Amino acid sequence: MKSYREELTFCTPHRRDYINITPEVEKIIKKSGIKEGLCLVNAMHITASVFINDDERGLLRDFDDWLEAIAPHEPVDHYRHNVGEENGDAHLKRQVMGREVVVAVTGGKLDFGPWEQIFYGEFDGRRDKRVLVKIIGE
Ligand code: ZN
Repeated sequence: MKSYREELTFCTPHRRDYINITPEVEKIIKKSGIKEGLCLVNAMHITASVFINDDERGLLRDFDDWLEAIAPHEPVDHYRHNVGEENGDAHLKRQVMGREVVVAVTGGKLDFGPWEQIFYGEFDGRRDKRVLVKIIGE
């Protein structure tokens, strides 16, 4: 069995951003040379997520509105976590949107269902954050 590991780094311009990282993951799979196996993609920070959904602008804005409705950023003193920091909402948003995805690799490609794409969800951005891509297989 072969394995390959690479990290992606993102520094988003806003506190919250949603980035389709599918092309980057596809490039890493190609580099790995693995044709049949599994690809794990996970956020390495506890205030960011990796998730799979449709690349549709309205949907991404709906996710953002929904997350702000259930865990609004302000007022920051609403969160017990926010002693000396103000990202309590970002921890909760990450928990809802998840840490990682695992996608089958078939014939050297991501074996997606219809419309599936991999996203990086940032909830406390404007600084470097990392995403791990690990591929195992043959
Ligand atoms: Zn925190």
